[in-house]
Amino acid sequence: MLLLDERESVVDYCKKLISSELTTGTGGNISIYNREERLIAISPSGIEYDEMELEDVVVVDIEGNVVEGAKKPSSELGLHLALYKSNETVNAAVHTHSKYATAISTLRISLPVVHYLACLGGREVRCAPYASFGTEELAQHTVKTIGQDRAVFMANHGLIALGENIKQAFGVAEQIEFVSEVYSIACTMGKPVELTEYEIDESLEKFKLYGQNR
Ligand code: 13P
Ligand code: ZN
Repeated sequence: MLLLDERESVVDYCKKLISSELTTGTGGNISIYNREERLIAISPSGIEYDEMELEDVVVVDIEGNVVEGAKKPSSELGLHLALYKSNETVNAAVHTHSKYATAISTLRISLPVVHYLACLGGREVRCAPYASFGTEELAQHTVKTIGQDRAVFMANHGLIALGENIKQAFGVAEQIEFVSEVYSIACTMGKPVELTEYEIDESLEKFKLYGQNR
């Protein structure tokens, strides 16, 4: 079986999408790009996460040709491929319909930087213009809007988060959801204060040496 490790991670993280409440039903999708093998493992379209198995994951090449797998790949395959083509540092993508990020996506605004963790998504987590799910148009809007950042809202739809690996991409999705929720709660209490450009720069710099990074 091709990309066994990547298939396992796709299934594990798909199940985590549900247990971490980052999506509902069969919404969202996950892919991992093995750049050495030039192959991508992507979740299948419309399969319940608790029923998903290793062989349901579809392996495709960077042009989207199915190399292994009997199931139909995610309807957002074109979006995942376009993101890998536009940023060589990215090897994993997590698309969610998490509640608060999706709520922000309906406002069609950038994420207000009310917490330093917003910077995990990049200098600004913008919102891509609306297009119907699974379309080339949505892929193009999303790639254009995200630039070299690590997360972007998709208008009236959800969020896509990127990483050098799946752990990082999933972490970005979780933290952008956290900041979206904090912003939403704070708005019910008053008018939240946003970090300044200087404070954002400071956070971006500090992330480079965060944790065990030296
Ligand atoms: P798939 O089940 O085809 O991945 O679609 C879910 C989704 O979120 C589409 O945007
Ligand atoms: Zn979606």
